[in-house]
Amino acid sequence: MKIFCFGTLAVEEPYARAWGKEQGIEVGITSQPLSTATVELAKGYDGVSTKGIVPVTADVYATLESFGIKQLAVRQVGVDNQDVAAATQHGITLTNVASYSPRAIAEMGVTQAMSLLRHIGVYQDRMHNGDFTWDAETISTEIFNCTVGLIGAGHIGSATAQIYSALGAKVLTYDPSYDAALEPYTTYTDKETILKEADIISLHTPLLPATKNMIDAAAFKKMKPNAILINMSRGELVDTAALINALKTKEIAGAGLDTLANEVAFFTQKKPYADTPQDFQKLNAMPNVIVTPHVAFFTKLAVKNGLEIALNDAQAIISGKRSRHAVN
Ligand code: NAD
Repeated sequence: MKIFCFGTLAVEEPYARAWGKEQGIEVGITSQPLSTATVELAKGYDGVSTKGIVPVTADVYATLESFGIKQLAVRQVGVDNQDVAAATQHGITLTNVASYSPRAIAEMGVTQAMSLLRHIGVYQDRMHNGDFTWDAETISTEIFNCTVGLIGAGHIGSATAQIYSALGAKVLTYDPSYDAALEPYTTYTDKETILKEADIISLHTPLLPATKNMIDAAAFKKMKPNAILINMSRGELVDTAALINALKTKEIAGAGLDTLANEVAFFTQKKPYADTPQDFQKLNAMPNVIVTPHVAFFTKLAVKNGLEIALNDAQAIISGKRSRHAVN
C-alpha cells in the first residue's frame, strides 16, 4: 500500500516515516498543499492525506478519482476548505481529525488571555519607548477574580473550561449541546449572560451559518469595557471591522486571535509586511491585541496524533474498512 501526504510540515516528517515503517506502508511526502497544481503527485498511490487552509476544488477530487483513489484524510479538524459535496460526487471519502490534542489549543487561548489580562503587550510597547511606568490603564485582575465565558464547549472548549476552573476562575458556558461531564468545571448559561458578565470571552464553536459573525457590533456593545475576546477557532466567527472599532473605542479591553477571517491570504506564507491585509496591520499594531498565525494546535503531541490518526483512517478506507472520522 502507498499513501501520499500533501502539506506535510517538516515536524510531521519523522512521525510519517516512523508510521510507514511500522505499518509496512510507503509514505510519499511533499510540503506543498493539495491543489490543482500538485494533485498529479498522487498518481500511483492508493490514498492521500492533506493539511492546510488552501481551498480544495472539485477538479482535484476528479483527478484523485481518475487515479482510483477513494479517500482523502484531512489532518486537521476543519474541513471548511474542502468542497464536501464535490468530494462525495467523485466518490472520495473525506476524514478529519476531530481531536488530536484539545489541550494544545486550550492552552494557547488561556496563555493569550493571561498575557492580555496582565497587559504584557502594553508594557512592552511602553518600554520600547522608554516608558517604564504603570497606571490606571494597566491595573490588572487576578484570574481567580475573573468570570470566563465560553461560547462552545466541545473538545477544545471543555479543555479550556477545565484549565480556567483549575486556575480558580468562575466559568460560564453557552453551548446548545449539554455535557454533564463539564458540570464540575462550569455553569451553563445563555449567550447574552456571557456577553454581559464575562471578563474573558473565549470562542470554541465551529464555523457554521449560525456562528458566522456571531460576535458583531451589537455583541461588542453588550460586553464589559474590561472584556478580553479570545478567538482560537475561526476568524469568521467575529466581524473584524466591528472588532477593530470596539478596540479603538475601548468598548472592550483586548483580543487574542489565532485566526482571522482573511488568513488564507497570508498565514503559512512569508510576505513583505506592507502586502499583508490592512485589518491585520491595524490589529497587530495594537498593544492590547495578540495575533498568532493559526498555530494554537502546534505542539509535539498534537502533530504526532494528527498525523497518525489521519494515516490510520486512510489505511482503513483503502483496505475497505470504515472510519468513524468520515465527514461524508
Ligand atoms: P467540537 O465540535 O468538539 O465542539 C464545538 C462545540 O460548539 C460543540 O459542543 C457544539 O455543540 C458547539 N456549538 C455549535 N454551534 C454553537 C453555537 N451556535 N453556539 C454555541 N456553541 C455551539 O469542536 P472543537 O474541536 O472543540 O473545535 C472548536 C473550534 O476550534 C473549531 O472552530 C475548530 O475549527 C477550531 N480549531 C482551531 C485550531 C487552531 O489551531 N487554532 C485547532 C483545532 C481546532
